[in-house]
Amino acid sequence: MTQHFIVIGNPIAHSKSPEIHTQFAAQVGINISYQRQYCPDDAAGFTAVIEAFFQGGGVGANVTVPFKQVAYDCCAARGGLSEHAKVAGAVNTLLLNKALLKSGTPIAEAIYGDNTDGQGLVNHITSLGWPLKDARVAIIGAGGAARGVILPLIEAGIAELTLANRTLSKAINLVAELSVASETINDQQIKTCSTEALSGDFDIIINATSIGLSGDTLLLSDELSGHYAYDMMYGRELPFLQHFAERGAQTSDGYGMLIGQAALSFECWTGHTIDVVKVTKTLQAL
Ligand code: NDP
Repeated sequence: MTQHFIVIGNPIAHSKSPEIHTQFAAQVGINISYQRQYCPDDAAGFTAVIEAFFQGGGVGANVTVPFKQVAYDCCAARGGLSEHAKVAGAVNTLLLNKALLKSGTPIAEAIYGDNTDGQGLVNHITSLGWPLKDARVAIIGAGGAARGVILPLIEAGIAELTLANRTLSKAINLVAELSVASETINDQQIKTCSTEALSGDFDIIINATSIGLSGDTLLLSDELSGHYAYDMMYGRELPFLQHFAERGAQTSDGYGMLIGQAALSFECWTGHTIDVVKVTKTLQAL
């Protein structure tokens, strides 16, 4: 039997999710159909699309820009949210809450949301062999992507976290919000500063800004150094990684994070675990 999945976004034509999930299904030997689903950029349109999908027998959906917060609101009012989705304030994975369905809740009211982005990053960093336990980590950027990775990084056992952002007030507000949203995070654990003021030696420095989309270069202090540098962007020249590679750091772009979050969605829908390293090699060879 074919299981049906979609990724919902606007725009959506560029999404690599269908290719990735097709490789996952091939690896574990199940039949799936995974389609790109365009949706008008409004909450009512999004809700109509996901209700129709699940009522039509769909098993799971990924959510991408600009709908991750809309999906969060939708699930908060319906089938519920995972801890990672609650703290991230965003949902990238939709499925049906089986317990609610069993107790007679209608399908449209049982739509449940998870967020696998942050754990996808942690799994990728771990697979690279970079040490997270007791690591001193700096994240640059305080938008949705940074918000989603902070709890999974703390759960992975990092020792220290510094959050730097161009607009310092956004970093300060984000830390305050996260410490309210999660018992695991307290605002004393996370230092904040402006991006230019970020200095010192870190084990891992993560670029979670959207600067790569603009082609601009981050203004970084000469006093900033790191053993490992990670850019969440992928598929283009990344000056951030060049900067740290020239100073001797090991580097990685965010393609493995993309595959990692997809693998966790697939696992949550189908119960099958994916050999991510193997699939990544296959996808890179395509
Ligand atoms: P947001 O728009 O929510 O946040 C953007 C962040 O970038 C803000 O902190 C903003 O700072 C900062 N920024 C933007 N331009 C500049 C600049 N010129 N100089 C310094 N800082 C700048 O974006 P997201 O958090 O959703 O996404 C961030 C990145 O992460 C994107 O590149 C996205 O593609 C990537 N991503 C990758 C994933 C993967 O699977 N690999 C998953 C999710 C995201 P300010 O607050 O001052 O405006």
